[in-house]
Amino acid sequence: MRPFRMAMPQSVEGACSVLKGSYKDHRVLGGGTDILSELKEGTQAPAMLVNLKAIPGLAGIAREARGLVLGALATLTDVAEHAEIKKHWPALATAAAHAATPQVRNAGTVGGNLCQRPRCWYYRHPEYPCLKKGGEICYARDGENEFHAIFDNATCNIIHPSNLAPALIAYGALVEIAGPDGKIEQVPVERFFVTPEQNITTETILEPSQVVVRVVLPAGSENAKSAFFEVREKQSYDWAVCASTVSLAMDGDVVRDARIVLSAVAPTPLRRADLEGMLKGQRITDELLAKLGEAAVAKATPLRDNKYKLILVKATLSRAIRQALKG
Ligand SMILES: Cc1cc2nc3c(=O)[nH]c(=O)nc-3n(C[C@H](O)[C@H](O)[C@H](O)COP(=O)(O)OP(=O)(O)OC[C@H]3O[C@@H](n4cnc5c(N)ncnc54)[C@H](O)[C@@H]3O)c2cc1C
Repeated sequence: MRPFRMAMPQSVEGACSVLKGSYKDHRVLGGGTDILSELKEGTQAPAMLVNLKAIPGLAGIAREARGLVLGALATLTDVAEHAEIKKHWPALATAAAHAATPQVRNAGTVGGNLCQRPRCWYYRHPEYPCLKKGGEICYARDGENEFHAIFDNATCNIIHPSNLAPALIAYGALVEIAGPDGKIEQVPVERFFVTPEQNITTETILEPSQVVVRVVLPAGSENAKSAFFEVREKQSYDWAVCASTVSLAMDGDVVRDARIVLSAVAPTPLRRADLEGMLKGQRITDELLAKLGEAAVAKATPLRDNKYKLILVKATLSRAIRQALKG
């Protein structure tokens, strides 16, 4: 591992001003559960880590008039165990509770979860100069690709690993980003992620000198019927291989509005407006769910070893909807 220095800024402005430069020089440190593996694996070798832990006001979860505000340093455990989140935003609580392991959830933060890097084994292996590391090919395309993308994978086959992101998108959450000029920008979580075609070297819109400071679950989103349903090989120390998150606004038994996000199947969490349109104004029936499942995978482009994900998309989608309706 390359030696590095650690900065402990006392304010968000201080953190952003240390971060001026490039990702090669500086990286943010949240809980460290992801970036420290990258340092050990050699995929990142920054000269300095900018530790956010000494900045007051970034931890914890608070109710404000605009909604529920999750600090960037709130941990996955904080989210999973928060009584109000469990009651009003159950998809988010479940997504947080199922991620990783208890130890990782105790240390991993909301900001770090959204900014974590892909778990593609070719990206993570120092001997594979893949596209994301400035190389010329995606090794997963013809390599070992059972855990890779089945949608939007023409360039790079990573899947987005975050459990929180799809749930936050389903609730219309906003991410607050601070920059060196002291300005705070609010962006829908849905627009926080970039595709490999937009920028192959990163997964988010963050500039090197920006940090995530908060996530806001807007007031009103707590009234939805919602659920997160995932499938993983192991129940702990693993990532989802496919997940569906739904948030439904109902008029009696008719769907008035819907948000559907598929995850662990594409380089970004995938909001599916086409599927949402199929639900609006409809009663949920077995026939509708079957049609929805077929539509969900109609444009998939699976690789040699991950066709099983087509079945999982259909199953997780239908189960998430049924679970949401049960309340
Ligand atoms: C065995 C294992 C299993 C896992 N399974 C899952 C899973 O099922 N689902 C899931 O969602 N996750 C899973 N994870 C990932 C885990 O949730 C993340 O590692 C964790 O959430 C990252 O948070 P952190 O605070 O530790 O991030 P760090 O490691 O500190 O940072 C991660 C990245 O985000 C950047 N960063 C951190 N905070 C900020 C910020 N505020 N602003 C800007 N950039 C920032 C860092 O520079 C770094 O690039 C797993 C991890 C492990 C080790």
